[in-house]
Amino acid sequence: MGKRILALLAAAMLLLPVRAAACGSVSAGGGPAGYIALTFDDGPSGPATEAFLQALEQRGAACTFFICGYRMQDFPTDLSAYAAHGHELGVHGWSHIYLRSESRTTLETELGDTAQLIEEMAGLRPRWFRPPGGLYDEAVCTLAGELDLSIALWSVDPEDWNHRTQAQIVSSILSQAGDGDVVLMHDIFPASRAAALEIVDALQARGYALVTLSTLAAIKGAAAEAGAVYSCFG
Ligand SMILES: [Zn+2]
Repeated sequence: MGKRILALLAAAMLLLPVRAAACGSVSAGGGPAGYIALTFDDGPSGPATEAFLQALEQRGAACTFFICGYRMQDFPTDLSAYAAHGHELGVHGWSHIYLRSESRTTLETELGDTAQLIEEMAGLRPRWFRPPGGLYDEAVCTLAGELDLSIALWSVDPEDWNHRTQAQIVSSILSQAGDGDVVLMHDIFPASRAAALEIVDALQARGYALVTLSTLAAIKGAAAEAGAVYSCFG
């Protein structure tokens, strides 16, 4: 069973709203065949980050990166470089703990402190939060809403953290991704970074445009409401 389905089932059991329409359909016309958002969790990765951001920009791909606060201590990175290369930053939490049944104080550290760090270092307030493991509860949605963060899940998961060969990651994504999809990857792995560049080339050859989450939501007419959960944009 796919992670997207699991997320939807989990949300249904919790009676939490998930904004998800059918993704993957391609409209006819003279523009791109469709729009896809590549997203990367768990960074930043210090010196490896700049070259990766630049390589994506050179291909005309704008992506979204979900940052962990603790990584900034181990891998100091210039967060302003993301926007400088056309990319978007989101919140992934401070310590990467799973956020179910956590106290309000803990949630404020995980979401609020990380959002503040991004704003201070990048000069831009993040609009998206991706909960580690895709796990969240009503308290997470409430705080995300107060912080003007929408919750971003995903609709395509190559499990690159598990299958760390470039060929496996590329094959998995290219067999699934279509218009409106949100692809989950982790740019902390060299194989994932190499796969991402190959995927960008292949998806562009199919006519797709690679855009940030905010751009994808805007193109698809999604409101991206604070505190609401989105897995893709059909
Ligand atoms: Zn993560």
